[in-house]
Amino acid sequence: MDIQQIENETLVPMYAKRDIALVRGEGYYLWDSEGNRYYDFASNYGVNILGHSHPAITNAISQQASTLISCHQSFYNDVRAKYLQKLSEKLPEGLDKVFFCNSGTESVEAAIKFARAATGRSRIIATKRGYHGRTYGALSATADKKYREPYMPLVPDFEHVPYADLEALERSLSEDVAAVILEPVQGESGIYPAPKEYLAGVRAATRKFGALLILDEVQTGFRTGKYFAFEHYDIVPDILCLSKAVANGFPMGLTITSRDVASRLPAGTHGNTFGGNPLACAVALVVLEEIDRGDLLSNAANMGAYLIDRLRSMNSPVVREVRGLGLMIGVELKDRPTKYLRLLQERGFIALPAGATTIRFLPPIVIDQQAIDALIEVFEEVLT
Ligand code: PMP
Repeated sequence: MDIQQIENETLVPMYAKRDIALVRGEGYYLWDSEGNRYYDFASNYGVNILGHSHPAITNAISQQASTLISCHQSFYNDVRAKYLQKLSEKLPEGLDKVFFCNSGTESVEAAIKFARAATGRSRIIATKRGYHGRTYGALSATADKKYREPYMPLVPDFEHVPYADLEALERSLSEDVAAVILEPVQGESGIYPAPKEYLAGVRAATRKFGALLILDEVQTGFRTGKYFAFEHYDIVPDILCLSKAVANGFPMGLTITSRDVASRLPAGTHGNTFGGNPLACAVALVVLEEIDRGDLLSNAANMGAYLIDRLRSMNSPVVREVRGLGLMIGVELKDRPTKYLRLLQERGFIALPAGATTIRFLPPIVIDQQAIDALIEVFEEVLT
């Protein structure tokens, strides 16, 4: 079977393909169909934080698959309740109510709809360089023209202000704004962590105008050395979007709201078929258990600091800046990243692009010093 030929001839051509077929993973390693091994510094765009073929995940999937796979939310379910109990332990006061869906985009879509319904207002302020997904609501919050233009017209009453510019946001805020939506660390556009004063200022400004604050933590969730990136900033949003890492690559999305927002939502007006299914919940429960058992948030903080440090001490004329928080790290180049990513891949390391000029590292949070040292040795060579 020619895997690449079949995919090329059959798939809608939406993705710039990389020329390997990945067929197996274990821990932070991946193997292609030719038997070549790679260090996974991408986690499939940030999802498999516990690495691949984790025995506890495999076990949870097979146990739950032989018990009950789907259970619509119009019924109660034991595994879902157990997961909600565990998830609540991780959430601060003010994030009390959970809506289940199946992806990051769906999580954002629900957040935007909930903000409008709960406030009775329509304007949504998002940020330049922000990425929130590709359905119409999420796309309308996303800034990149390339994603927006082929699909016009988008949803009305969205606007984009510069990121990390509190004054610009304050000029746009008024009492008809339903919500401000942003990423605490902008991911797809190049890894830009928000300055501390900025998010504190956004929180205060949204309160002043009665607008909700939606934090899109689809990419930051469980990855920055704390469960949620907002914990680095001493703020709590009104609505929190999670997906990617929550079920280690099993599709799941969560839109989490304050009690107050949830109480203002018209019941029966939003929903989906698969959200909160017992299989996804069983996996997500194991993710929380394993993070706690292995103290993996500390590992993400320590290994993130180590990786940033090693990247900053590299000697390369091509590097412009290294930015990041925990294990969400970007190396901005003075050049396009494609050829460097290809060279890394040829030498056994999978990383990602972000924005026009950044190489992004989103490794599993079980990564260790040995893997990072191996990456740096090769990366330094590739960049020169
Ligand atoms: N929000 C953010 C911050 C993201 O990084 C992404 C995915 N890259 C999304 C939303 C959309 O998630 P999904 O691809 O699962 O729909």
